[in-house]
Amino acid sequence: MKKMKLTTKIFVGLAAGILVGLLLQDSPAIANTYIKPVGTLFINLIKMLIVPLVFSSLIVGAASIGDIKTLGRIGGKTLSYYLLTTAFAVTIGLVLSMLLTPGAGLSMPVTETAMQAKSVSLADTFLNIIPKNPLKGLVEGNMLQIIAFALFLGMGATSLPAAQAKPFISFFESLAEIMYKITGFVMSLAPYGVFGLIVPVVASNGTAVLLPLIKVIGAVYVGCLLQMVFVYAVTVNGLSRVSLSEFLKGILPAAATAFSTSSSSGTLPVSIKTIKENFGVSDRIASFVLPLGATINMGGTSLYQGVCAIFIAQVYGIDLSFAQMGTIVLTATLGAIGTAGVPGGGLIMLSIVLSSVGLPLDGLTLIAGIDRILDMARTSINVIGDLAAAIVVGSSEKEIGVVETAQASIADDEQEVSPESMS
Ligand code: ASP
Repeated sequence: MKKMKLTTKIFVGLAAGILVGLLLQDSPAIANTYIKPVGTLFINLIKMLIVPLVFSSLIVGAASIGDIKTLGRIGGKTLSYYLLTTAFAVTIGLVLSMLLTPGAGLSMPVTETAMQAKSVSLADTFLNIIPKNPLKGLVEGNMLQIIAFALFLGMGATSLPAAQAKPFISFFESLAEIMYKITGFVMSLAPYGVFGLIVPVVASNGTAVLLPLIKVIGAVYVGCLLQMVFVYAVTVNGLSRVSLSEFLKGILPAAATAFSTSSSSGTLPVSIKTIKENFGVSDRIASFVLPLGATINMGGTSLYQGVCAIFIAQVYGIDLSFAQMGTIVLTATLGAIGTAGVPGGGLIMLSIVLSSVGLPLDGLTLIAGIDRILDMARTSINVIGDLAAAIVVGSSEKEIGVVETAQASIADDEQEVSPESMS
């Protein structure tokens, strides 16, 4: 029940923050002097995690991709499905956010800490991905370069004999685990952080800020729904014998667990049970595709990053070029590999997407207040994407059972959805 309590606390923090913010509308200075530092502290803690968390979890993620070579065909199919559907997800997020313009009506000044969007060509973006000096990239927090270098390191490591690569991979596995733990600690402060973040925003902008934030929530939820139906359910339907309704019913236990825990990793045991019992996917496919998915497949998270990037650009009055949108798709798709499957992992990665196109990191403070609400939806989509991949790959390998058994076990499984399975 622990995690549920945290979610409740976050919502209480959010509601209390909105209320206090409204009460302090006439004296925003009080909110800025006394309450804002609490939010700033929370954001600083998140920023502190970015480079080490992303770097270590990307190396571990890339090392697991390296292993795919040994699995050959199945690995290739799984990876293609993950990357393609994730790129689709970011695009849906970008387009939806442009259509719904959640940032309209809210305008924030671009402060000195907020960088102006750089206008770089797509060709330059690609060329700059390869760091001439990777350590410089790490120190400066150049995320595309960090991603590229970590991918090289991870894949390079797996091409060595196991005995030689093991100490390196183990070190980064250990670092990644430590960073997940610290992320968990930072997220346990979220109720206070959310309060500290939302009070000054509401105090300074009044109720004008609420509608845009509600629109962001709407855009992410609608996007997630579109991704689930038009990308996952449709590909499952087209590439396997599982029908749309069987898919949507069968995924429920895992999707509900993901929604309530906001953690793909925590949902993994339920995902494996769901895919085997409700869809009859073989052990071999399930035990490869799902853990890999929980580590590197984050369609929902990427979609959310697309929505938020456009929202933040709108709020700060920054026009993004086509090349910058391409960079967002690229960063969010590759960044998913380094996103920790724990609550709030995507928020940390969002800062990377923002900095890849020079959008103000201050925008994070707007999103952080409502992040948990978004996390619930995007985590469900992340997990649903993993299940869809398992079905598609399982079906192409003829390692999927008769679906008739599915309906019978759904009811049982639903009883077992419990947030206690969270890590
Ligand atoms: N909570 C998400 C997950 O576990 C990651 C994220 O924050 O986007 O899949």
